[in-house]
Amino acid sequence: MPSSEMLYVFQPSAQPAELDEWLALLAARGGGPSLLRLGPTPVIAAAETAEITAPAGLPRPVATVRAGGGVRLTRREIRPEGTVVSIGPARIGDGRLAVFAGPCAVESREQMDAVVGAVAAGNGVVGLRGGAFKPRTSPYAFHGLKWSGLDLLQEAREKTGLPILTEVVDTRHVERVAEIADAFQIGARNMQNFELLREVGETGRPVVLKRGFGCTVDETLSAAEYILAAGNDQVILCERGIRTFEHATRFTLDISAVALLKQRSHLPVMVDPSHSTGRPNLVAPVSLAAVAAGADALLIDVHAQPEQALCDGAQALRPSGFHELMGRLEMLVLGLGRDVSVVMDVDVRDATVAGIA
Ligand code: PEP
Ligand code: MN
Repeated sequence: MPSSEMLYVFQPSAQPAELDEWLALLAARGGGPSLLRLGPTPVIAAAETAEITAPAGLPRPVATVRAGGGVRLTRREIRPEGTVVSIGPARIGDGRLAVFAGPCAVESREQMDAVVGAVAAGNGVVGLRGGAFKPRTSPYAFHGLKWSGLDLLQEAREKTGLPILTEVVDTRHVERVAEIADAFQIGARNMQNFELLREVGETGRPVVLKRGFGCTVDETLSAAEYILAAGNDQVILCERGIRTFEHATRFTLDISAVALLKQRSHLPVMVDPSHSTGRPNLVAPVSLAAVAAGADALLIDVHAQPEQALCDGAQALRPSGFHELMGRLEMLVLGLGRDVSVVMDVDVRDATVAGIA
């Protein structure tokens, strides 16, 4: 991989034979070209060479981008209009603010009914979060309900119509998790588990990629690159705080990374104010700051009884705090000329009437 390279971006209508001709031209110049695709858009990466005069009739690139550092398909220049990711009926990256909420971990049907009813009834939630497989620092901690947790997530979707975002921790689980999850979450501790990235990339299913807490912005983009290179452009980057000397908060939310990722990449950016701050009384102000910095989506821990939570109760909002935050977010996004995303074909009142609240 050369340190400096060119990316040649073509119209989706470019034919395989035409792209082959370009590959041959660039190879003859010693460019070592390779063909990639971002969704329908062909992109040829090659070492920087002198200007090439293409034969008449061969389609010219719609853009040429000077690149390097192993970052290709995530670059904003490849898709300047931005990527919209679809998670079930929800759209992320369309300019509106998309909020995902739910417990850190799925614990029981009763717990799920209580929290899911409460967040679904709060207008503006487009998806449910909940971990069935929990990567924990200690091997003795609660590691989630695993497959039965996924069954409870499926029930929650049936009751609310809201799509499910849940973590996958193991390449061997990917296929089976994909049967239930509307989107995969790759946790901070697995951001550089490259086999897992490839595997979720191959499913084509949307992925929320959380930034490793010891990883740079460039490393985060390189990790996303694995998923995109596997043919899956449905990726959301999630800033969830990095480790610094500051211990007053659980991690340090890198707010400039939110704006920077939006500038560098066409992928939507999500912020997790719960895992980053670790404190419920910081979740609202940090959520507002994230939206002001340009976040497309938020991922918020909510629990009906945080003091009894089996995982991360200390950072969860209660439903009342969550509803108050949604009200404040709505005012902020209106001021920014945006809107709060809603899932149009879900009537949350029906879900509440159906007995989940
Ligand atoms: C989570 O969101 O459940 C989680 C484990 O977060 P992170 O990977 O960011 O620590
Ligand atoms: Mn957690």
